[in-house]
Order: sequence, then C-alpha cells, then structure tokens
Amino acid sequence: MQVNLNIQYEHLNSIQDLDIDDQDLLKAAIKATAFSQAKYSKFKVGAAAKLDNEAIVIGFNIENVSHSVTVCAEIALLSNIIINHSQHKIVTLALGYNNLKGHSKTPISPCGHCRQALIEYEQQSSNKIRCILGSLDGEIIIINGISNLLPLAFSNAMFNNA
Ligand SMILES: [Zn+2]
Repeated sequence: MQVNLNIQYEHLNSIQDLDIDDQDLLKAAIKATAFSQAKYSKFKVGAAAKLDNEAIVIGFNIENVSHSVTVCAEIALLSNIIINHSQHKIVTLALGYNNLKGHSKTPISPCGHCRQALIEYEQQSSNKIRCILGSLDGEIIIINGISNLLPLAFSNAMFNNA
C-alpha cells in the first residue's frame, strides 16, 4: 500500500500581505537578527513567538567556533520561553533572516534539529503552532502546525509501544 502525505501551507508574496499583528511578529523576528551572533557564517536568524498572553518573545542564533556547539534561533527562543514564560503557550512563531550579503528573499525554514524540538514543544503544549516563515523582503510561507513541517516525527509515544 502506498500512502501519500499532503502538506498544506499558505503562500504570500510579501510582508504587506500579512495582517498587522503578523507583520509585527515577523518584524520582531527580523529585528532579532540584529542580536544574532553569527560571526562565522554571517547567516543571521531571528525568531519571534507570540504567546497566548500576547507577549512576544525573541530568540536568535548563537554561533561557536566549534560548529556543533552553535545554537539555532528557534532553540534559543524555546529556551527563553521555557525559562521565562513556562505558563504560556506559543500561538504563532515567526522566523526571519539575512545572509552573508545582508539580504534574504526566500522564506527560511527550520532545520531538522529545530523541527524535532518544535514538534515536541507543540505536542507537550497541545497547541498547534502557526509558523510564519519569512525573509527580509520576499515571499512568505505560513504553515499551520509543526506537524506539517515534520511528518512521521519521532515521538515519545514510541517509548510506550508494546
Ligand atoms: Zn535549527
């Protein structure tokens, strides 16, 4: 039996096509790139989450000369939320970036490591996270739920299988 997976997302041409709250969240993510510590790659990533109490929390990537020590913006964001906002859930997550040339037009997408971290957070919070994947001045993708970014995800439900 062959099974086909369908992933749905929304595609927008620019930040102006978002409603004002989403624009503000993506702008917060883009602003967070200014704090990025990306001295090796110059690939500056910013993340911003709107929580269920309307608070906006940010994260950014932190590179290290030992590359495996590098922390992605999404992981920094999750750490910030888990430490400082543990009673609240992420409603919407926005990601933005700029690259070596200081530009970006293609929507960013979380790496596999971050998808795994985000899906576990999503499952534990029992709340689908809406993701706005952006760039500085290009197209935008909106995905409703991390499960759409990581189908067939590894989960702790497997620990309890007979
Ligand atoms: Zn990552």
